[in-house]
Amino acid sequence: MRTEEKLYTLRYKKDNETHLVIEDGNKCIECEKEYGEPQPCASICPANVYTWQNNKMVIGYENCVECGACRIACPYENILWKYPRYGKGIALRYG
Ligand code: SF4
Ligand code: SF4
Repeated sequence: MRTEEKLYTLRYKKDNETHLVIEDGNKCIECEKEYGEPQPCASICPANVYTWQNNKMVIGYENCVECGACRIACPYENILWKYPRYGKGIALRYG
């Protein structure tokens, strides 16, 4: 099954608050110089949550599938990550 098809099996209940925060934007600028694009977070994310725009990492947290990979991949330990609040975020779609 392709990633896009797997993502379709999830349903989202959007939280109005982000559960993903970048701690220090300057570290992202350093990271971009060192690793180029896509940066490690953008490269590993299966849901295209991270987009580099105007020297800043923009986070489309609503699309996150809560795999946790970006937090581990970030070489600067720069991502504050928590699960969405209870009842929000992803759930499996049945039928
Ligand atoms: S991997 Fe970490 S430091 Fe690099 S751009 Fe992503 S959040 Fe920023
Ligand atoms: S937790 Fe997974 S899906 Fe969510 S932003 Fe990080 S890598 Fe992407």
